[in-house]
Formats: sequence, structure tokens, C-alpha cells
Amino acid sequence: MDKNSLMKAVKVANNKVEVCSVPEPKGEGVLIKVKSVGICGSDLHLIDSGLMNVTPGHEIAGVTSSGVNVAIEPMLSCGVCIDCENGNQPYCEIALPNTMGIGIDGGMAEKVIVPDRFLVRLDSNVDINSAFLIEPLAVAVRSLLRVNANKAGRIIVVGGGTIGLCCVAVAKHLGAEVELVARHAHQAEAGFKLGALRSQGKSANIVVEAAGTSSALLEAVSLCEKGGAVAIPATYWDPVQLPGMEIGMREISLIPSITYGHTKGGRDFQLAAKILAGTPELPEAIITHRFNLDGAPEAFEVARTRNEGAIKVALQV
Ligand SMILES: [Zn+2]
Ligand SMILES: [Zn+2]
Repeated sequence: MDKNSLMKAVKVANNKVEVCSVPEPKGEGVLIKVKSVGICGSDLHLIDSGLMNVTPGHEIAGVTSSGVNVAIEPMLSCGVCIDCENGNQPYCEIALPNTMGIGIDGGMAEKVIVPDRFLVRLDSNVDINSAFLIEPLAVAVRSLLRVNANKAGRIIVVGGGTIGLCCVAVAKHLGAEVELVARHAHQAEAGFKLGALRSQGKSANIVVEAAGTSSALLEAVSLCEKGGAVAIPATYWDPVQLPGMEIGMREISLIPSITYGHTKGGRDFQLAAKILAGTPELPEAIITHRFNLDGAPEAFEVARTRNEGAIKVALQV
């Protein structure tokens, strides 16, 4: 094979992460040189479950051959079905199997090819090495828009991982006063940098469950006011206990969300890009570790063990 047509990419074999030489991508779309990719908790789950059969990486930013910095919306929905038309891209039948880093090859590679409509052009003040954060920010955008957080005075976020901290940033952007319930001191510190106060246990009308555990759901419900809503951007990989009596007696709505779309008419990814541009303190607060592509095995190890206070572990390509 022509040596020029090979590139480096992360592959998973027998639950182990390795960097391989693979053919460069081919096909329709815009060729993007990848610059930064985040490791997501779901990558670890998929690897552990033996379900990661593609190049991982769905939090991706890069540069086009004409030098335009872009973030990539990795869920390549069809764009024409009724769900896509209604802004519910996650319901699109082809969305999940056609998601980069989940069902098709993702961004932990030197290059990817992406249809133009899934690119978001970046403001010049956004650092390309942090712009992959637009993906988890878009997750937070859909979650908070689904509970009409733009009308909330106070919001409590339970969970100080990447999604919880992105929810803090989005809630601040929407004008809310935000309190964070974080398990670890370094997460609380990151929330503080983003303007979140420490929760004093006073309830709020909107609470975000961003940790994905039974105990976090219980805490979120107990912090939610009567008639309020618990937004759930977290992914439940295992069944959780439902505090049914509390939910029923106080009429608390549970509003889950998955990925992003055009949730209230606008494109969630576009708003997420705007929020990143307007929150320059976000990358420093969330990205705790950076590795180059060759360091991917070690990067996944750090993300998995969460030692050294890891929140978001990033690869720079
Ligand atoms: Zn993710
Ligand atoms: Zn569709």
C-alpha cells in the first residue's frame, strides 16, 4: 500500500487501547485534520463492554484544508426525517449507528472526513485544542433547554464531572444562579472557577442530575422543589433506584436528555460553540490532562482511574 495513504488512529483490541497505522479516510465530505479530542466516560463503558469496534472519539475539533477551525457534530443524523425536522436528531433512526466514535470511526485519528453540515466554524478566540468541549457543552444545552432553564432563577447541578461542569457553564450563560453538588474537592474547585456556588441544601425548581447514579438521582430529587423538574443528561448504564414516593408526592418531573439536536429551534451545537467562546475559563477548569495521540493508552488509563484529580482528559493530535 502507498505509505502516504496511511495515518495514525486509536483502535481497541481485546479491551486494550492502541495506536495503529490505518488507511486515511475516503469518501464524500470535508477533510479535517484533527487537532483535539476528548475522552468521554461513555468511551470507557463501551470499551469495557467490548462494544467499541471503531476508532473512538466523539468530542472532536480540527482544521479544514483551507485553515478554518471547526468543531464536529459527531452524530450524523439524516436531516430529512420527521424527528430531524422537529429538532429531535437523537430520535433519528440512523443517528446512533452513524455517530462518529460510537458506530463509525471517530476522531482519535489524524484525519476524518465529515459532511459540511456537521461542522461548526469557531470564533477566532476559541483555542482549537479545547474546542472539542463544544460536544459535551451541547449535551448540557439540550438538557437545560428541555427543562426551560432559561427561565430559572436558581439551578442546582448534582455531579462535578465534565457534563455537570458543562451544565454549570450553560446555566450561567442562560442567566441562572448555579449551585454545584460535587463529590470531590477538585470538582468543586472547577465549579467555583465557573461561578458555581456550593450548595447549601436549599431546594431549587430545576435540579440537574449529571452523575448517573442512584445516589445522585436521590439527591437531585430531594433538592428539587414541589412541582419542579430534574433534568437528567447523565447516562444510566445500569438500572437505578427511583425515589418513587418523593417524586409522586411532590410531583417532580424527571426530564432525561440524550446528545443534542435543534432543541428549541436553534442548533444546540451552535449555542454550545457560542458559550465556549464566551466562557474562556471553561477549558482550564475542566481539562485536567493532555496527551498526544501516541499517548492514548496512558490517557485512557488516567481517565479510567481518575487519579491525579482527572476531570477531562484530552488528546492533542
Ligand atoms: Zn460523550
Ligand atoms: Zn433523521
